[in-house]
Amino acid sequence: MPPPPGREATLLPPDQNQGQQRPPAPDSTAFMCPYCEAVLSNPGAAQCDSCLRPLPQQGTPVLRMMFPTGELKVSVGQHLVLGRDAGQSPVASTFTQYDNVSRRHSTVWLDPSGTAWVRDEGSTNGTFVNGERLPRGVEAPLRNGDQLRLAADVTGTVQL
Ligand SMILES: [Zn+2]
Repeated sequence: MPPPPGREATLLPPDQNQGQQRPPAPDSTAFMCPYCEAVLSNPGAAQCDSCLRPLPQQGTPVLRMMFPTGELKVSVGQHLVLGRDAGQSPVASTFTQYDNVSRRHSTVWLDPSGTAWVRDEGSTNGTFVNGERLPRGVEAPLRNGDQLRLAADVTGTVQL
């Protein structure tokens, strides 16, 4: 006689995580004031809540990266994590199909002067700008037309 259905399922341990919440993950989509680095609750606001300086509006520089799977945009003050893990990167869907891209691969951002930067986050297979591998943790500028490659898998063209 087989055991009654559902018997195995009752052997699961009780949930021991009740009331023990994980700390919130750092919000990689947060917009920061480019002047005082306060996190902005409303990125579209005309001025910073904290230092009251006017915030960059339309017409200010935007970093665009054209990947085969989609176009990514980064505004001044935004740090965008590129990677395959939706818990680490808000644009993970752009990279999920690329097995050699790390869960948290690189970060790109624009500084207030309009210069774009990329930093490798200790990825397994490397971040490359125009074919040159970045040492991990080093901040490298990105210029219009640069080729940003993650692992051997996917290359995006920088537009500034
Ligand atoms: Zn501010």
